[in-house]
Amino acid sequence: MKPRSLLFKFNLALAVTFLLIAMVFTGVIYWVESYRKANLLEKIFLSIDALVDQRKEALANEIFGGMREATRMSLEEIAAKKDIVAAAAYDADGRFMAAVGLREPTAGAVAADMPATALMPAPATGAPPAPPPDPIFRQERLAGLPVATYLSPIVVSGIRVGYLIIDYDLAEVLSKSRLSIAVFISQSLLVLLCVYFLLNTLLSRLVLRPVYKLKSAMQRVHEGRLGEKVKLDARNEWGDEIREMAQAFNNMSDELEKSRSDYMRAIWEKALYSRELERSNVKLARFNTELEQLVSLRTAELSRAKEDAEIASQAKSEFLASMSHEIRTPMNAIIGLSNLAMKTDLDSRQRDYLEKIWSSARVLLGIINDILDFSKIEAGKVEIESLPFSLSGALDNLRNIFGGRAREKGLFFNLSVAPDVPDQLVGDPLRLGQVLTNLVSNAIKFTETGGVEVRVRCAEVGEKIAQIQCAVEDTGIGIPDDYLPRIFTYFTQADGSTTRKYGGTGLGLAISEKLISLMGGRIWVESAPGRGSIFHFTVRCHRSGETAETTVTEHISAPPEGLRGARVMLVEDNLINQQVASEILQQAGIDVTVADSGESAMAIFQRDHMTGDRPFNAVLMDIQMPGMDGFETTRRMRNENGRRPPPIIAMTAHALREDRERCLKAGMSDYVAKPVDPDLLLETLARWIDLETGAPAAPAPIRDLVRAPGRDGSAKPATEGDGHGTDAEAARSLPDLPGIDIPSALKRLGGNQALLMSLIHSFSQDFALAPDQIADALAEGDRHQAQRLAHTIKGV
Ligand code: ADP
Repeated sequence: MKPRSLLFKFNLALAVTFLLIAMVFTGVIYWVESYRKANLLEKIFLSIDALVDQRKEALANEIFGGMREATRMSLEEIAAKKDIVAAAAYDADGRFMAAVGLREPTAGAVAADMPATALMPAPATGAPPAPPPDPIFRQERLAGLPVATYLSPIVVSGIRVGYLIIDYDLAEVLSKSRLSIAVFISQSLLVLLCVYFLLNTLLSRLVLRPVYKLKSAMQRVHEGRLGEKVKLDARNEWGDEIREMAQAFNNMSDELEKSRSDYMRAIWEKALYSRELERSNVKLARFNTELEQLVSLRTAELSRAKEDAEIASQAKSEFLASMSHEIRTPMNAIIGLSNLAMKTDLDSRQRDYLEKIWSSARVLLGIINDILDFSKIEAGKVEIESLPFSLSGALDNLRNIFGGRAREKGLFFNLSVAPDVPDQLVGDPLRLGQVLTNLVSNAIKFTETGGVEVRVRCAEVGEKIAQIQCAVEDTGIGIPDDYLPRIFTYFTQADGSTTRKYGGTGLGLAISEKLISLMGGRIWVESAPGRGSIFHFTVRCHRSGETAETTVTEHISAPPEGLRGARVMLVEDNLINQQVASEILQQAGIDVTVADSGESAMAIFQRDHMTGDRPFNAVLMDIQMPGMDGFETTRRMRNENGRRPPPIIAMTAHALREDRERCLKAGMSDYVAKPVDPDLLLETLARWIDLETGAPAAPAPIRDLVRAPGRDGSAKPATEGDGHGTDAEAARSLPDLPGIDIPSALKRLGGNQALLMSLIHSFSQDFALAPDQIADALAEGDRHQAQRLAHTIKGV
């Protein structure tokens, strides 16, 4: 259906409504008018009836008598009445009698018009008269006029005499009626029209106009003019739902506009943001490029720094190694020579001095070892080894080292091992020994009465792994509670007075803790001041099936006497070291052949081979020598055809683990650290020399020394002298040589004047050309050679 406007629909609805109302009105008016007309006709009828009633007697006589003229005269009188336009009379048989007005005399007309009862025959004589029939009143047209015709029988004493017809002019009545209908209808229509227009106006004003306003506002909003509003005028033409609608629309429009402005703002901000983003991207790309450049620059710097750091770390390692070497070499001299010197003739003061020098040197060596260990741990250079070793051997060593010291202090020293502890283990015996040594040495140090007990048990034992738990208990001074939590921290000691009274660096326990954790265990302490302390620790070791180490242990405890008569080559460039080692060896009855370089060692070795001299039972090999170093010399000796090489034992101040590994790789059998411990040196040799069979006593692997060089506290050296004169006397009989401090040189050599003379002699021979050689090396830019020469001279 075609959409129609609201106005159209309104008008249509109103028109239809009003049409219906008009139809109903018209019907009502027509009905009212018909009713009124019927009333009027009734009145006319009654008035005619009354008129007829007055004349009825006379007329009956006249008709009955056949008096036409009289009848006509009576009729004239009747017709003289207003609006009566005709009248006619008929006799009883219906024959025309007379007529006036418009009515023509028509014979027999009544008979046809009257109802049947009116024409009924007169009743028989004697019968009761029939009631007269009612007059008839009907509308007709007469000569073109609308008339109301009155038809009535004339009955006298029950006898019908004739009939009478009277015609009443209805023209006026009818026209009045029509007029009133017309007036009424037109008035009604007028009223209806007025109402219609009024309604139309009101509806337009109250409904349509606001709706159109709303519509056009909506249209404007639709066209994009958000925020458009419907004006709510002051006359409050819309105080109804439409007003609410308008308000709702206004709100909606506001909201829409707000949303649009928000949206626009958001879009704008987004655009701004995108622009910013683009700018930032550009900046970022620039930064990125710069950053990449910077990163590559920094990376290059870093890799340079890393290289530098690696070089520095390498340098540090080398520095550590050479420090260790440099410190141990003089320590070797101090400990070795004081040891030797104490065996000479001395007065009690000298002996006291020497003993103090000797023991201070050992303490100093212990400190140096701790510091070196500390630096190695800090540099992550400590690695735990996995070597087969015998636990009982390790504990024997502990007993050997500390048993005597405890006795000297008047303390007991007990060592017990639970039966389920496996003896053959794989682990790092050196480090295990170091921890035990540290704990037991502390226990003895801090105990004045009572003693020390070491207990070893198995915390856990499996087929392959054994968790060994050791406890070192003492009855000493104990440790204050507040200090306990920090006891395994570097450089920490219970209190200042402890340091002063007992000495120490505060490094030992911290190093032990690190070593234990590297060995997969933990360390802890229980202590109460004045009641002693118990240090516990665990270590994880693999169980070993091998038993070879038992032999080692046996040999460790073999008496040095077994070495008497053995032939040993000492390869050592440093004269003092040569002297120290030679004398230790000679005192044990060993036949020593000294080679001052790798080359001369090879020469001696080859010459022996040629002459078929008694082969060497062992070679003690210094590592760092000018020319052919210890490694190279060992390799060559091992490759020398036709002769079974003797066991070669490294003797070096190099304390780093890599050096020991290099020794093994180069084909050496064992290792003795400098400063040389006389007992240790002889014990080591005893392990490798078997004079009865002539074969080395022990096979290849480096043995499990459980002795930390500086902390072993081995028994003081023997005090018997070997008959040298006093240093002062000897010094006086020697020439005064510029640059050489003869008295102190003699002191260092235990007053051995002949030895000093021979040393000076060989020094002058060996190093006469040295200043020129150094100058030449410097001139050629060979700083390394110059440094090496200077180093050798300094050492000698
Ligand atoms: P050092 O003994 O060289 O000082 P340590 O690290 O071995 O270094 O020991 C640190 C400190 O712990 C000692 O100075 C001492 O105060 C305390 N200590 C260690 N062991 C014991 C002990 N058995 N009894 C009492 N105090 C101890």
